[in-house]
Amino acid sequence: PSAGSGSGASHMIVAVRIRPLSKEELAAGKRSCCEVINGNTVVITKAAASGVYLQSQQAKVNEYAFDCAFGPDATQSQVYEATAKPYIEDLLSGINVTVFAYGATGAGKTHTMGSSGTTCGSGGSSSGSGGGGGGDEAAAASGIMPQSLVDVFRGVEARRRAGSGARAETWSVRVSYLEVYNEQILDLLEPGGCLQVCEDKARGVVKVAGLAERRVASCDEVLRLLRAGNANRKTEATGANAVSSRSHAVLQVSVTRAHHDDCGNDVVRESKLSLIDLAGSERASATNNTGALLRQGASINKSLLSLANCINTLAQNAARASGGGGGSGGAARAPANVKYRDSKLTRLLKTSLEGRCRVVMIANLNPSHHTYDDSHNTLHYANRAKDI
Ligand code: ADP
Ligand code: MG
Repeated sequence: PSAGSGSGASHMIVAVRIRPLSKEELAAGKRSCCEVINGNTVVITKAAASGVYLQSQQAKVNEYAFDCAFGPDATQSQVYEATAKPYIEDLLSGINVTVFAYGATGAGKTHTMGSSGTTCGSGGSSSGSGGGGGGDEAAAASGIMPQSLVDVFRGVEARRRAGSGARAETWSVRVSYLEVYNEQILDLLEPGGCLQVCEDKARGVVKVAGLAERRVASCDEVLRLLRAGNANRKTEATGANAVSSRSHAVLQVSVTRAHHDDCGNDVVRESKLSLIDLAGSERASATNNTGALLRQGASINKSLLSLANCINTLAQNAARASGGGGGSGGAARAPANVKYRDSKLTRLLKTSLEGRCRVVMIANLNPSHHTYDDSHNTLHYANRAKDI
């Protein structure tokens, strides 16, 4: 399965991104334990730290190959172009697309997704490119969310122009922004009580009852909503990180096309782009939390664990359906049941993971040898998703 294979059989791209060590980390003597080779393979080395291992003991080295792998020098544009960008066309032709960033706290999820919403428009960019340029240029420096929104609006605009005339099409773009925190769904645009997921089986769609949806016309408008929404996010200091995100942030962009068919009937088609900045994947125990925080950690793990299970089952089913791999070309076994109902996150994403969907997983790594275990777990998790 290659990145951007569009309508091919594979419907999941798994990418890994290793962030650079910061100046502070380098000054503190942190060293990198993982690197990219051959454009798609990550090598991770468990160093034989002096005093801990006997001299004779070898460092442990593992290699994992993915659809693509990005090292510390990769730009935001390179990551976007090789992962989400090819799927924006699919979104506009009615297919659900999901992009999620996975990884421990501090690994670069928010940076990769651009979900802080700080860059597009009036500056604040860390790229420091300076000068004019519109939202588009700023967006290119600022992650998957802004970059895909720019392409969504471009694509919608092009179709509006092409579709104006006898069979006029009406296109609209709406966004919602929510978080899954402690197995509760909370609206970030209109904070209130916790909301429930409901599934309209007949139409094959999942809805969150009462969730605010805003009609939007530009990338800047969405980024303003993101910033406002982020101010409502639950973040708490934990032992692992000063401001550790304990929740999954989900931005959903619904693209709707309405037109009259030849018989004069209204035809409405909707597809959803789900952009997700997952909660940190580090184990709750690693942060030495107790009481309420530990309970939240357990709930975060429930949604993450459940996502992992669903992805695992989807991968097994895909491998069976294609008949490849094991080489058991005989009678096809029935696909295993995917347990979407086990957590809020997977219930929410059901219609974005099954069937004709496109899914991009970007596994983020902090390269420091201090976080070897987290990085190794992340690679292991991402590796299981490859078969989808
Ligand atoms: P997470 O959301 O996974 O907790 P962040 O995205 O907040 O992690 O990243 C942690 C820190 O590393 C931030 O200061 C961020 O700016 C920086 N960072 C992450 N990825 C990169 C990158 N690719 N290039 C430069 N800095 C990065
Ligand atoms: Mg983050």
